[in-house]
Amino acid sequence: MVLKKHVKYKAFSRQKQHAEHKNGVVIDTIRPHFYSYDLYMKLKKEDTLLTAKFDQLVKQLRILPGVGQKSAQRMALHLLTKKRPQGMALAQALDEAMRDIVECQRCHSFSDEAICPLCQDPRRDDGLLCVVETAADVMAIEQTAGYRGRYFVLGGHLSPLDGISADDLNIDQLVWRVKQEPVAELILATGTTVEGQTTAHFISEAVNRHVSKITRLAQGVPMGGELEYLDSMTLGQAMQNRSFL
Ligand SMILES: [Zn+2]
Repeated sequence: MVLKKHVKYKAFSRQKQHAEHKNGVVIDTIRPHFYSYDLYMKLKKEDTLLTAKFDQLVKQLRILPGVGQKSAQRMALHLLTKKRPQGMALAQALDEAMRDIVECQRCHSFSDEAICPLCQDPRRDDGLLCVVETAADVMAIEQTAGYRGRYFVLGGHLSPLDGISADDLNIDQLVWRVKQEPVAELILATGTTVEGQTTAHFISEAVNRHVSKITRLAQGVPMGGELEYLDSMTLGQAMQNRSFL
């Protein structure tokens, strides 16, 4: 059965390659629609797309989120044909980032040094500590330019189904930090998912003896949002969390 398909594939492939060469395209990117991707790759494992090094570049590009085979090929060809100097700069930046970026010892965000610039900045308020799940959340809050306190990155959220317990997060270090340092307000900015809410509740229980004010990010109507299109959960939260004008 496989042999029959193989023969069929080869015939199809030759036909397509002929058509591609006629159009000046040198890469065989055609995937017969009647094969699964795995079978296609199995059948063509002896072949290379262009060269072994090109294949390796495509393979490595595919580790990026949302980048499939076609996108990776397009990126590799784009770099090779039009952006070689930028490609070299990209390779160097990638090399330096992977070698030199470490976890900040204070907040567990990313840093070039042992302590990150946000933790070192003397203009920030030590009394405000914002707890987030990931470094991406730090970036999101920083982009609002409305917060001037410190951060603490948990490294995820509690998720018993995925086997993520408190020991897998930086919760012990957070408790230690609020015991050692005077934190006037702890802002629990974990996600609004069930896991995020559970994590916030767990932290609140763990630190409430050491911090007098524990707050949670407000939930409700988004900017520019029409009430009629909101889900009832969000609208219900907005009604509960209403504020004075
Ligand atoms: Zn830091």
